[in-house]
Amino acid sequence: MKLYSTLDRGVVQVKPLVKGRISMYSCGPTVYFRMHIGNIRAYVNWDILHKAFLYLGYDVKRVMNLTDVGHMTDDTDFGEDKIEKSASSEGVTPREIANQYIRTVLEDFSRMNILSPSGESIDLKLEIGKVKEYGFLRATEYIPEMIEMIQKIEGNGCTYETEQAVYFDVSKISDYTIFTGQSLDEKTEGARDEVNVDPGKRHPADFVLWMKRVGKYENHTMHWKSPWGDGFPGWHIECSAMSIDALGKEFDIHTGGIDHIPIHHPNERAQNIGAMGRSVVSYWIHNEWVVMGDDMKMSKSGGSSVVLDDIVDMGFDFLDLRYLFVSVNYHIKINFSKKALHGARNSRLALVSRLRELKNEADGEGELIHEYVERFKECLDDSLNISKVLALINEMIKSDKKAEDVLVTIYDFDKVLSLDLEASVEDVGLDIPEEILKLVERREEARRGKDFELADSIRGQIGDMGYMVVDSADGFNIEKI
Ligand code: AMP
Ligand code: ZN
Repeated sequence: MKLYSTLDRGVVQVKPLVKGRISMYSCGPTVYFRMHIGNIRAYVNWDILHKAFLYLGYDVKRVMNLTDVGHMTDDTDFGEDKIEKSASSEGVTPREIANQYIRTVLEDFSRMNILSPSGESIDLKLEIGKVKEYGFLRATEYIPEMIEMIQKIEGNGCTYETEQAVYFDVSKISDYTIFTGQSLDEKTEGARDEVNVDPGKRHPADFVLWMKRVGKYENHTMHWKSPWGDGFPGWHIECSAMSIDALGKEFDIHTGGIDHIPIHHPNERAQNIGAMGRSVVSYWIHNEWVVMGDDMKMSKSGGSSVVLDDIVDMGFDFLDLRYLFVSVNYHIKINFSKKALHGARNSRLALVSRLRELKNEADGEGELIHEYVERFKECLDDSLNISKVLALINEMIKSDKKAEDVLVTIYDFDKVLSLDLEASVEDVGLDIPEEILKLVERREEARRGKDFELADSIRGQIGDMGYMVVDSADGFNIEKI
């Protein structure tokens, strides 16, 4: 498969370390708040990647971290621990906060048809204590591995210790800024004030491996014994320690959002080199943002975040959001709006309605159309070109292939898209309320009278009530959204 590799600054052919196998680590959520759909986009992207590899016949070994310690507000070394802050404001323990939000991650993954990192559907009855079996690794369960890794880095002379913390000395890594191509001074401009927090910190780009439970952190609730005293790990070490523990000293793919390009991933890579003498990861792959309005990144702190419950409140189905996410390549920004979601819903429902027509035409069991399966694989291979897949599906529907074969083939593609196409086609038990039928009639009248503005506004009203009118050559269908 070809993918956009950040370090290669372009699309490259992925060459797995072991033929036919892919090892993959995904930077996961910090579990102190309900994920917004920007976070969720990241996991939908990597879910498609995971399923694409499976479809192409690879054996996939994948894990994802759940950050439940050490991630500071503002991503600075000396902020507040996000989990502890949230725990104290809600009057519960850090463990309770983490458990509560791990539960919401599982719910959101399940609603969005995202497989667990281990490749299974998520059963909501899954006990929090068993998430590791599903490939979700909790940072607090890997403290000994983190300490061991810091010791290796220390043994290789890449650390220094102050009264407050153990730091990674980034000057020891000659290509530390390889991700951004900036010089170290350019990179750290503006970050200088932070050096003053710890007078012993030598360079603003140096980062904490182990924070001591002193000064500001004297009362930090989560803490463990270590060779450097009681304390807790820095944020970056968890990903290095857990990925290597789970996937070995070399693995194929590491995923994350583009926010990780300037700091988190250079730091992970530095730790890998510091401990193992090698960069460990073959390909770093990043997803673009979900933005809103005037190019504003969706974020919890920005006050502009939308969660899955909002999608339902807006009258949409999770599958509409999934359609929107799958139709845009991971390397391209998504401008989220109600209009974009409407567009995705229209396209999805139009597809379902065409598949229903095919189902009515179908005669018996179908067979996979190999020519199209091959072309589907080529699209996946082409850096997950799903918009080409959607065009391919349209082409196939219009082709003279047998309806039953086209259906079976499209349902097969849905193993990657996960749009529940077959279930949606089967779900014809529509009971359309009287008021919707009346609105549809008024819309038809408006259209006949060429008042398209009114017709469109009635269509919007129908949409807001959870139904959709799908026009076709010989009339229209009313679909439940
Ligand atoms: P966090 O919990 O903040 O560490 O974020 C979890 C993941 O979501 C990271 O990989 C982020 O890069 C990603 N992420 C956060 N905000 C957005 C956004 N607006 N669009 C896309 N991905 C995002
Ligand atoms: Zn990470």
